[in-house]
Amino acid sequence: MDLKITKVKTPKELPDDSKLGFGQVFSDHMFNMDYNPEQGWHNARIEPYASIVMDPATMVLHYGQAVFEGLKVYRASNGKIQLFRPDRNMARFNRSARLVCIPEIDEAFILHTLKKLISIDKEWVPRAPETSLYVRPTIVAMDSFLGVRPSNTYRLFIILSPVGAYYPEGFNPVKIWVTDKYVRAVRGGLGEAKTPANYAASLYAAEVATKAGYSQVLWLDAVEQRYIEEVGTMNILFVINGELITPPLGGSILHGITRDSILTLARHWNIPVSERRITIDEVLAFHKDGSLQEIFGSGTAAVISPVSHLAWQDQVLTVGDGRVGPMAQRFYEAITGIQYGRAEDPFGWIVPVD
Ligand SMILES: *Cc1c(COP(=O)(O)O)cnc(C)c1O
Repeated sequence: MDLKITKVKTPKELPDDSKLGFGQVFSDHMFNMDYNPEQGWHNARIEPYASIVMDPATMVLHYGQAVFEGLKVYRASNGKIQLFRPDRNMARFNRSARLVCIPEIDEAFILHTLKKLISIDKEWVPRAPETSLYVRPTIVAMDSFLGVRPSNTYRLFIILSPVGAYYPEGFNPVKIWVTDKYVRAVRGGLGEAKTPANYAASLYAAEVATKAGYSQVLWLDAVEQRYIEEVGTMNILFVINGELITPPLGGSILHGITRDSILTLARHWNIPVSERRITIDEVLAFHKDGSLQEIFGSGTAAVISPVSHLAWQDQVLTVGDGRVGPMAQRFYEAITGIQYGRAEDPFGWIVPVD
């Protein structure tokens, strides 16, 4: 497929690398592509970042038929600009798309256009330590129609946002709130799709948690409300008696790429790993007998998010000594080391942009 490129006449002013937040500023260009049943995916173009004008009846605004992805571009210590396992994001993009009846994309072509977009906006990849350029590919339903059915037309776009260090004051543990009242997703539902419905479903519980002084919600399964699923918008891992335990990919949780990278590293380091269902009661029992050593979340934005406290019904548990555990620290350093080119890449995870 052809790729048409139109560059901006007047580039925006680059933000100060030391003052970047998350998802607030966007680069000069974006990628756009359209779908209709006659032409399939067509009209691939890189053009100046601009608003999308929509009819008020556009289906995505009413029924939420959309999918997205999240990955980062890193400026390595040798000056190279690189991606981390982007093929996995492209595969998950299609997996999510299938679950909400969105036509599949050509993964290799989208990765190719993404590299092209990044190389055009490469000055937007920040240079300060632990900063990156966040990439947000999205597909939305574009028919102007009121009525529930899959759309016939779609827009795919990719935007880029320079983001700051997630831990500007150093690696910081968080307090989380376990809910047995609200659920995020149910098996057979959309839990393993990166689709807006799941995030809308998480907002209310997150507000309740914030009001109670907690920064994330720990989700239990929606059927029995016993099995641990995810934390906030991250996967969750436990260190119990030296073993790394994480819930299996059973249909209601996201197939996290950071999760997979952690499990791969752990196996490589001969750390015992178990992907198994684990209940909140088991976690409480392991805490009581002293074998619960660490809990941490994993995701692209934070990489690792260590948990210091867990609030469940009327108890608040302190995990370990309430500080960042050695396993969380080791995974964080290993993964960011590979991403920023400070460490070897034994698994071939790095994809150079040019
Ligand atoms: C994106 C996401 C994750 C983490 O996936 P990564 O590929 O590691 O970034 C976990 N859970 C949810 C709900 C997510 O949306």
